Amino acid sequence: MNDDCMTEINHLDKTTKDAPNGLIACHDCDYLHKIEPLPPRGKALCVRCGAKLYQNIPNSLNRCLALNLTALMLLILANLFPFISLKAGGRLEETIFISGTISLIQHGMPDLGILVFVTSCLFPFLTVSGMLYILIPIKFQYQPWNMARIYRMVNALTPWSLLGVFMLGLLLAFIKLIELADVIPGVSLGFFSVLLIIISAARTNLDPSIIWPLLTIDPGNSRPGRTAAERNLMSCHICSMLVSRPGNDHHVHYSCPRCQAPLHSRKSNSLSRTCALVVAAFLLSIPANAFPVMTIIQFGMGAPDTIISGVKHLIEDGMWPLGMIVFFASIMVPVLKLIVLIYLMIVVKMKLTWRPRDHTVLYRATEVIGAWSMVDIYILAFLVAMVKFGYLSSVIPEIGAIFFSTMVIITIFAAQCFDPRLIWDNLERPLIDG
Ligand SMILES: [Zn+2]
Ligand SMILES: [Zn+2]
Repeated sequence: MNDDCMTEINHLDKTTKDAPNGLIACHDCDYLHKIEPLPPRGKALCVRCGAKLYQNIPNSLNRCLALNLTALMLLILANLFPFISLKAGGRLEETIFISGTISLIQHGMPDLGILVFVTSCLFPFLTVSGMLYILIPIKFQYQPWNMARIYRMVNALTPWSLLGVFMLGLLLAFIKLIELADVIPGVSLGFFSVLLIIISAARTNLDPSIIWPLLTIDPGNSRPGRTAAERNLMSCHICSMLVSRPGNDHHVHYSCPRCQAPLHSRKSNSLSRTCALVVAAFLLSIPANAFPVMTIIQFGMGAPDTIISGVKHLIEDGMWPLGMIVFFASIMVPVLKLIVLIYLMIVVKMKLTWRPRDHTVLYRATEVIGAWSMVDIYILAFLVAMVKFGYLSSVIPEIGAIFFSTMVIITIFAAQCFDPRLIWDNLERPLIDG
């Protein structure tokens, strides 16, 4: 290995005696780094794109265990007590966690109801209990049965458990409801707010090396190169293990010997799959904006609202901050996300070598913000569940909501299909071909 190719990792404790010779490849740009011991709270960042490679979190196992146990208890408690109560015309309506789902199913929209249920309840429950299933046995120093499969499930479901977005939807629905009735916050609202903090703390306190120790053995391929691909190595996206690829055949399917995750040097058919999903999302955005998403009936009157007319009414009614949030999350975010993905595909296709680091940051941003578009669907679920006063006022979900949520899901998949390492391959290609 050419040593000047291996630049030092940031924040290293160079005094540590043991010098492992393991390697790790950056998940975002494929650049190879030597694994070096880190001081407590140290982070190893990719020298090329700035992505986090690994970190050293003291006492991570015990902290994660405590946080996940607390999260599980709060999740159960939040489901047992009322969330919000509404009072109008002498009637009191109580809403529990699951009410949104049930009301959507009652209004003939089971798909939307299930979507709200899995992203706000089932997936958070599965990710928290999956982590406990892995961490408790590790605490007592034995490996849980089927650990790799459970860990992969937790990893796959994490981007789809949208508790933060759910909470924002609840708060916005709350503001909207104040004009219709007396809103009384319930006990579960408190449990839920604490749950949000605990779950994000559990995620930031997890040091994946307590589950998948960093490998200190050389992956055993002496080809020269600065990236895993150049050295004919494949990096496991789940456990970071580097595996030598026996042949150059890109159609053979390999899996990681440690966690059995499928291994690809690059995500397969990344560009064509991303492109197909972007086109599908664009097509769906037409009915999503043309058809109404809900009808709010007050005193027997009310007309169906599309997303845009809903925003317009909110601003006309003086609730412009709420209108701006809905406008930004439901219209700006999906549009920006699709534009960024198209731009990144052009960058890869045209082999542009311009500002790869900024392009990687842009990609990470699209991954993070995408799910916030779901907020409109949660607002709808809450309104449908809570406003059930018949003639006085009620909210009915409309077909546009289904088109809209499908479009949001497709944009999230499109971002997942794109492989940011392709941006960096533009820089490598002359080296590989030469
Ligand atoms: Zn990198
Ligand atoms: Zn693996």
